[in-house]
Amino acid sequence: MSSSGQVLLDRYLKMGRIHPCILLVGPDKAAKLSAAVRMAKSLFCSQKSKELFCGECSSCQRIEKEIYPDLLLFKEDNEEALKVENVRDIIYQMEVAPLEGRAKVCIIEEAHRMNSASSNAFLKTLEEPKENRYFILTTTKLGGLLPTLVSRSLLFHFKPESEAVQFSTDEWSELEKMFGDFQTTKEIDPIVDFCEEKESALRFLQFLQVALRKQAMGEVGGSLFNPLSPMECTYKYQKTVELEGKLKSNANVGLLVESLMRQEFLK
Ligand SMILES: [Zn+2]
Repeated sequence: MSSSGQVLLDRYLKMGRIHPCILLVGPDKAAKLSAAVRMAKSLFCSQKSKELFCGECSSCQRIEKEIYPDLLLFKEDNEEALKVENVRDIIYQMEVAPLEGRAKVCIIEEAHRMNSASSNAFLKTLEEPKENRYFILTTTKLGGLLPTLVSRSLLFHFKPESEAVQFSTDEWSELEKMFGDFQTTKEIDPIVDFCEEKESALRFLQFLQVALRKQAMGEVGGSLFNPLSPMECTYKYQKTVELEGKLKSNANVGLLVESLMRQEFLK
């Protein structure tokens, strides 16, 4: 039921230190909104135990009803919220001390609809983030957001479950061996040669995603990228998803894969 984006986000929330601006990317609006609300519950729940939140305390219930005072929620149907004067007002409200919780959270759905004036106003608050203030933005169009805003956010990609990939044992061992050899020899060419065809490059990226996710989740057999921490694996997972998006519209596949390998896996 939960996509890998949700699983990684939950894992991240359990680790505790939360980035001031989380950006949820993907085609499924409902999945992203529910992830954003889950995150708010995890920050405000008053009966947290092993789970991220209880779902039953007064905070959880009022978040569900969208009446919790320290949560500002701007859904897609609220076009007004994205105008620059309203963005300034949101920023002001976020600066005021929380009424109940330890924190304040602002969720803005489909944030790419902000114009440049609104985005710039918003960007200013991210440049000097206040403690315990969290923005959660969702978007179906990553390219519609200011690049500076994206670079100041922590991205979680929500891919539809139908895109879940399968590997035969043979194919998996072949890819695993290729990547293992690369780690030992630092020799990129075999991977670049393999990735010459777009189809193969996509398989290789999907292999990296599955393996990185396994290690981020601490699953059995997930040790290909040792000594990377779960957080580093999550970060590199996002990078491979970003590259997958670029591959679909770019002719020079080998070069893209080569730069990913150099930047993320050759250190
Ligand atoms: Zn609760």
